[in-house]
Amino acid sequence: MSKKGIIAIISGFSGAGKGTVVAELVKRYGYAVSVSATTRAPREGEVEGISYFFKTKEEFEQMIHNDELIEYAQYIDNYYGTPKEYVLEQVAAGKDVLLEIEMQGALKVKEKFPEVSLIFVTPPSAAGLRERLINRGTESMEVIDKRLARAKEECAYMKEYDYIVVNDDLEECVEQMHHLLQSIHFSKSNQKDFMEKIRKDFD
Ligand code: 5GP
Repeated sequence: MSKKGIIAIISGFSGAGKGTVVAELVKRYGYAVSVSATTRAPREGEVEGISYFFKTKEEFEQMIHNDELIEYAQYIDNYYGTPKEYVLEQVAAGKDVLLEIEMQGALKVKEKFPEVSLIFVTPPSAAGLRERLINRGTESMEVIDKRLARAKEECAYMKEYDYIVVNDDLEECVEQMHHLLQSIHFSKSNQKDFMEKIRKDFD
């Protein structure tokens, strides 16, 4: 079977708890996670190079110009993008890489690399999402409203995703995600090299 790692994109409404799910997957099962570049200001407790690579608008635009990003998107008022080098290195080394990115970027990556799996994490209800965003206490009410308005728009695009996972109970969600990610290895699009090899074996 193919020894290459897979790339899985995890998106979800802001406040869906996908960051926590991804952190647990990394901690428990050793998935590699891509660290994005952003022009957003760091939140309290966020660490350069771990949470994000924090950039000025000019620095970010230079990265776009140098073709250093697999994808980038504007979310609310900031740029967010995925540095290319780390992801490609990890996949070649057999690691599974998780990209926690929003929808526009996810769909752009899928267009370039159709074998990438798109997973959408959602809370069970819109009311639960609003409550989580308020309880998180990291954003002003104005930003929360913008994020909820964005979530409403994003509902229309959920159907573009390959898998939808409901995050009601964290423990359950992490285990479901791990099983899902392991199963994705067997998809025909991730076994192209193997299929080609065994076909040649018969020549
Ligand atoms: P936050 O400001 O809450 O950290 O992130 C806002 C949104 O940007 C989230 O939906 C997050 O998944 C997304 N995001 C983070 N990094 C990237 C990236 O590299 N590319 C894209 N397209 N979205 C990203």
